Amino acid sequence: MSSAAETPMMRQYLTLKAQVPDALLFYRMGDFYELFFDDAKKAAELLELTLTSRNKNDDDPIPMCGIPHHAADTYLRRLAGAGLKVAIAEQVGEPIPQGGGRSIMQRELVRIVTPGIPWDSDQIEDGEACYLLGVSGEGPIGLAFLEVSTGELRVTECATTTQAAREIQRLEPREAVMSEELLGDAALVAALGNTPISTVDPSWFDVRAAKRGLCSLLGTSDLQGFGAGALGPGLGAANALVSYARDTARVPLAHIRSLRPYTVQGHMVIDQATRANLEIFRPLRGSGRKGTLIGLLDRTCTPMGGRCLRDWISHPLIDMERIGRRQDAVSAMMDGQLRDEIRARLKQVSDMERLGTKIAQNVANARDMVALRLSLQSIPPVVRALAAFPEFASTLPDDPMVDVVDDIDRWLVDEPPTALTEGGLIRRGVHPELDELSDLAREGKGAIARMELRERERTGITSMKIRHNKVFGYFFEVTLANLSKVPDDWHRKQTLTNAERYITAELKEFEEKVLGADERRKTLEHGLFTELRERAADHIDRLQRLAQWVARIDTIAALAEVATTRRYVRPTVDDGLVIELKDARHPVIETMGLDERFVPNDIGLSAERRLMILTGPNMAGKSTVMRQVALSVLMAQIGGFVPASSAHIGVCDRLFVRVGASDDLAQGRSTFMVEMSETALILNQATDRSLVLLDEIGRGTATYDGLSIAWAVVEAIHDRIRARTIFATHYHELVGLADERAAAFNAHVGVSEWGKRIVFLRTLREGGASKSYGIQCARLAGMPDLVVRRSSELLKELEGWRAKVEGPQLGLFTRVPSTPIEDDGDPVREALADLNPDAMSPRDALEAIYRIKALCD
Ligand code: ADP
Ligand code: MG
Repeated sequence: MSSAAETPMMRQYLTLKAQVPDALLFYRMGDFYELFFDDAKKAAELLELTLTSRNKNDDDPIPMCGIPHHAADTYLRRLAGAGLKVAIAEQVGEPIPQGGGRSIMQRELVRIVTPGIPWDSDQIEDGEACYLLGVSGEGPIGLAFLEVSTGELRVTECATTTQAAREIQRLEPREAVMSEELLGDAALVAALGNTPISTVDPSWFDVRAAKRGLCSLLGTSDLQGFGAGALGPGLGAANALVSYARDTARVPLAHIRSLRPYTVQGHMVIDQATRANLEIFRPLRGSGRKGTLIGLLDRTCTPMGGRCLRDWISHPLIDMERIGRRQDAVSAMMDGQLRDEIRARLKQVSDMERLGTKIAQNVANARDMVALRLSLQSIPPVVRALAAFPEFASTLPDDPMVDVVDDIDRWLVDEPPTALTEGGLIRRGVHPELDELSDLAREGKGAIARMELRERERTGITSMKIRHNKVFGYFFEVTLANLSKVPDDWHRKQTLTNAERYITAELKEFEEKVLGADERRKTLEHGLFTELRERAADHIDRLQRLAQWVARIDTIAALAEVATTRRYVRPTVDDGLVIELKDARHPVIETMGLDERFVPNDIGLSAERRLMILTGPNMAGKSTVMRQVALSVLMAQIGGFVPASSAHIGVCDRLFVRVGASDDLAQGRSTFMVEMSETALILNQATDRSLVLLDEIGRGTATYDGLSIAWAVVEAIHDRIRARTIFATHYHELVGLADERAAAFNAHVGVSEWGKRIVFLRTLREGGASKSYGIQCARLAGMPDLVVRRSSELLKELEGWRAKVEGPQLGLFTRVPSTPIEDDGDPVREALADLNPDAMSPRDALEAIYRIKALCD
């Protein structure tokens, strides 16, 4: 240890650091947070800060870097994003004397900011959730998750590791808390991916201790009231979370008012790969929400609504009754007048859940309280508007929190300042003493103003001003030019370069009155505000319930808004095996401003025709058609409308979308191995109620083994699993499968040939494609003529060679396709046929060549 580390301050630093070895320590010194030693090196690199050192002249200087405290937010966000924890040590209390007239500040660890427990809710995007996940147990696995910024605490138990892994992927937690033992569970750890994991005290997971801990947190004697009495490991996970947030991260948790159990079984299962392939929350390329389903559907007006929509999308329903109730609500909300009224009101509503959290944690300021009042005041008109509709009648909130609104409204002024200690918060009439003090202060100020006029007149110094500052209080200020007129009864207090300042006994007397009254007023106002906030804190559970209702209404209105603007239809949802879409569109691609009009398609699957082999050349629109089926099913099962002119959807229990490793949609993401293991997963997990979409599976390897694998996979799905399936491939060889399997059929995305070119028709048709059109595609892509011609020659050779090897009996992959592709007349050929070379001059011939060439462009 260097001698620099021997100072009292460094000793204090090291003591604090020893308590948080796995976190970077932000050590407050004046206006900066300082980092030392390895922390400094790490932070300097990650945050691009200048690394300096303390005691530079020492033999062993200490690396250090600093962050201005007002900019801490940004840096904390970046460090949390990098998966790091940051402990914050603030200066507290009085300096501690160190002898020799020296002293050091006391410092305490006040918070540990972790990826799952951000510094404040502003660090979370609106409509996003920041989940801290707890995992516990074996056999049944308990999962609990906490959104610290809203106080949402939910818990579930999964029968198997697979189920738990899937739920973890669905939640996308920012951080996980588990016992050291569970780190050995490879499937769970794999499901967490890059999520930072904190291992914590194993006793926190003990179910009995957990029950006690949760009861004391929630202020109840048991957990029956939450429907959580019978849970086991789920409670352990919840308790571990709560303990971690409170005891390790030191976050106050007064805003957690309930524990909400849920089951993973009630939802359509969508795994990670499917979510990614469908671009539900994130685009496959790029960032942000552009091009995603959530980006399309999120027309919510409040942050609660945004989070609720996200939750609905990640947990589509399978229960027809619940789907029906949501559909009914969306249908009612298709009424434009109702929807406009409601959305206009909702736009006035702030993030009630996060305001509630601030109130419960005693950090809400007066503006937050006013925002809460305005939010609550917007709700009764929403309730009144909905009351006329039977679809909402049974769900209307019976508690619009009028008492809380009145309380805030009676006490707080309409536009209070953010500071709580400078007064100006509380209305007149709330507290007699406060009114008296305000009067006194005002009278005193009036008296001083009158004194200013009087003294100007008496002395003839017309430019004299009575001013005041924190150090000297009130004083007369006289410019140097007027000094000769200053009367004897003024006492000089201070000399400036171009003015002098004076006081009188009378001025000081008023000053005492004014300042004294002002000070007492400010203190009193602060006290009253704190009382008001504490009273509101008693109603956090009511606030959270109301906020959840608002979230639901907002989500319903958003779904109706999209359905109206994009002309969606209410799907018939039942427990059959039919999926029938008329004039279906891809909800996202149709909004993307294509060069061409989006061509709608009819798509049908049923128990008898459950396996569609979808062929057609590259770029024809196979992937798009498949995805529009998946997205429509998903949208239907969250209770929304779908992009079609009519839709009939038999509920799907699981949705699988896989993209082959060589398809451009998957570029850079998966290898052939990943593709195969993902496909294996489907074969193990899909059921006859699932929807399976396989897009160009089997292309990541040599042609024949790829085809063989694809063939075998499709057979297995058809024969054993019986899931509704679309298998898209540009290998037209696969069309033969449909002849061999009863419930399999061919479809293709139509193209028409025009000379040597192809034109994409974008329409889905019965029957398989006759060829792969690879060479035409290459031409379309701008491949040089020379290469295109050479590949045509090679293709002919190869086909001839294959016919010879395989003999007259057609091989497995060369069965004849069922429908030929239509061939439009070729204008070039026609133009050529019209020519009579013998009658042409060289000049005519040249012109004809130009004309024909033009036909080809
Ligand atoms: P494939 O999977 O057959 O190679 P894609 O489904 O990726 O083809 O479609 C390629 C492009 O064609 C899409 O990006 C889109 O721009 C366009 N496209 C696809 N389907 C349609 C359609 N029905 N109407 C209009 N354009 C479409
Ligand atoms: Mg494709």
